[in-house]
Amino acid sequence: MTDANEKRPRRQILVVDDDPVQGAVISGVCRRLGYQPVFADSYQAAADLIAAHSFDCYTLDLSLGDRDGIELLRLIASSGVARRVIVISGCDERILSATVRMAHATGIVDAISLSKPIDLASLREALAFDGGRPSAQPASEDSSRPINAGDLRRGVDRNELYAMFQPKVDLASGRVVGCEALARWDSPIFGAVRPDLFIPIAEASDAIKPITLVMLRESMRLARDYLAVDPAFVVAVNLSATLLTDVGILDQIELMLDETGLPARALMIEVTESTAMSDVGRAMDVLLRLRIKGVGISMDDFGTGYSSLSALARMPFSELKIDRSFVNDFLKDADMRKVVAASVAIAHEYKMKVVAEGIEDADTWRALEELGCDIGQGFGISPPLSRKALDAWYGLWNPSASASRIRRAGVE
Ligand code: C2E
Ligand code: CA
Ligand code: CA
Repeated sequence: MTDANEKRPRRQILVVDDDPVQGAVISGVCRRLGYQPVFADSYQAAADLIAAHSFDCYTLDLSLGDRDGIELLRLIASSGVARRVIVISGCDERILSATVRMAHATGIVDAISLSKPIDLASLREALAFDGGRPSAQPASEDSSRPINAGDLRRGVDRNELYAMFQPKVDLASGRVVGCEALARWDSPIFGAVRPDLFIPIAEASDAIKPITLVMLRESMRLARDYLAVDPAFVVAVNLSATLLTDVGILDQIELMLDETGLPARALMIEVTESTAMSDVGRAMDVLLRLRIKGVGISMDDFGTGYSSLSALARMPFSELKIDRSFVNDFLKDADMRKVVAASVAIAHEYKMKVVAEGIEDADTWRALEELGCDIGQGFGISPPLSRKALDAWYGLWNPSASASRIRRAGVE
């Protein structure tokens, strides 16, 4: 650690382990990586700390005497803030990976697992995601003040923003067809900030452009690698309304496609219905030119706007994404089912693929497949994953087993 590093606010990590020796080793590694470790040697001590304080990161031993770490995972998740959790256990790999999946299902997106005995290099790698990140902010920086566009621009300059990728699968076969890139910001001042919070701030300033360029760059690199195994793989990037009226974005996308050597068909641009309709003339211009180049265009959050049908008829969309709110409700709500069925029929009339987002369970998968939806995305399939976690998930995902298992589960 340099002196400058000593001055920056240290991220706090809660180390939970009922073995004090192991706890001391983990705490030592954390300290060297710039964290301020707090150690809990029992379930109760950890639960009290979690209830009283929000930590930046956690390492969690799964077996804690007669209690287990699963309940602690739920407690961490119920704090409602996206956190990194490193699950450490002597249990076999399958229990560890099931625990990580469970953590993802509770909304802890950044859970990863390490087996005991701990290999210090892996622990260091798991912790180094931002432990070594430089921060020029003074130690007194107030993390409770509102985030402004300058914070975001500085975040982009310091590589604090990055893409997570959520897989999209073909509902009939279970095959992975691509993924959607979702922006994440790990700020040394504000912690893990959700896109729902920082994207509107970025959109209201010029920070949205550099953020989108980061997303495009990371996505195109990913697509180039996946294309080598699956020539039909498509990566989707969200484009804000403000950029849809910026004709310069077209040249940038084209340049980046050239630089990565990526065919345009491997890129999909997602625009929300309200975005597409905010300035129809200019939006149409950019969207049409993207389509002519061969880039796919997806209408995101379909059903939440007010001019859906006319937009569908006039805009050159290649894909329609039914909003999560319809997907969540439609099993118990016959009216929602009718809306989804009608949307599927209309989209197919216009030769668009239909994507259902927000699939969280097997029943929903099966019902959407029966209604004719082509593609699915949601926590039930996979949460958004880091590039490394996506590679691991992709290697483990078994399309036919996943589709038939999930379908059988739906029938039972
Ligand atoms: P979106 O484009 O509709 O993205 C889907 C959101 O749904 C993501 O939230 C994803 O994590 C969440 N999601 C996926 N599956 C499920 C599920 O099964 N259940 C539930 N409850 N949620 C699910 P996230 O990552 O927090 O992003 C929120 C929004 O922020 C995005 O909504 C998008 O509008 C915006 N956003 C994210 N990244 C970017 C970006 O790079 N550029 C722009 N312009 N907007 C972005
Ligand atoms: Ca989207
Ligand atoms: Ca959406």
